[in-house]
Amino acid sequence: MWFSQELTDWEDQEDRPISGTGEVTGGGGKSASLCERLAGLRAAMLGSKKVVFFGGAGVSTESGIPDYRSTGGLYRQTYAYPPETLLSRSFFRDNPEQFFGFYREKVLDPALGAQPNDAHRALAQLEAAGSISAVITQNIDGLHQAAGSRHVLELHGSIHRNRCEYCGAFYRAGEVLSLLETAPLPRCTQAGCVGILAPDVVLYEDPLDHQTLEAATQALAAADMLIIGGTSLAVNPAASLVRLSTASTLVIINRQETWYDQNADILFHENIADVLGIFC
Ligand SMILES: [Zn+2]
Repeated sequence: MWFSQELTDWEDQEDRPISGTGEVTGGGGKSASLCERLAGLRAAMLGSKKVVFFGGAGVSTESGIPDYRSTGGLYRQTYAYPPETLLSRSFFRDNPEQFFGFYREKVLDPALGAQPNDAHRALAQLEAAGSISAVITQNIDGLHQAAGSRHVLELHGSIHRNRCEYCGAFYRAGEVLSLLETAPLPRCTQAGCVGILAPDVVLYEDPLDHQTLEAATQALAAADMLIIGGTSLAVNPAASLVRLSTASTLVIINRQETWYDQNADILFHENIADVLGIFC
């Protein structure tokens, strides 16, 4: 069973049989200039048949969506619990009003107010051109689809799918937000039903959706090029999943260092929208 969780055991990262040679490819090695690395990325993209993008929160932060995990002590001024508790299944069940208070402020509001950035747009255009075979994302904001990507595997679900826990009626994210503006809990508006609307989001303590995980595994196994972007790979299943890839070319785009930087054929610590923006 796969769970979304922080990796606390650094031992888990010790052997890292992730793909990529860590060698210079097309003038795009780690010591190359930004210009050379961008040229290397473009050449690698042209020379690959199945490119898979694996993205995390950093893809969305450039659309103005803060990573709730990196809000530091700020949330503690308002909330008595850490995000991992507030966004857990047991907390949702036992304290739904507090859950929705945090979920609305830190997840729903920022996501619904955001627009896709150049990283989202580039990936959508690359998919339309036949270069990208799948986008695997840990984000739940739907910005890849908003930009036009079609084959998106949402490991942690989506804020855009919500269902009444009692009758199963479907609600869009905007409808949930509207209900939260007048009540602490979003309740079903079907005649005679007062069920709570639950987002189709993987909460802490939840297993991942089996079908999504299987599709992601297959996409990674079939990829000849893997681009990891906007994630430090410090959260499972990201860290475990990418190790399933046998892609011959590994590109990492992340503002901070990752445990896998040394395996990257082309490495960027620049903004992902700036890097992928060359394909817009
Ligand atoms: Zn209902």
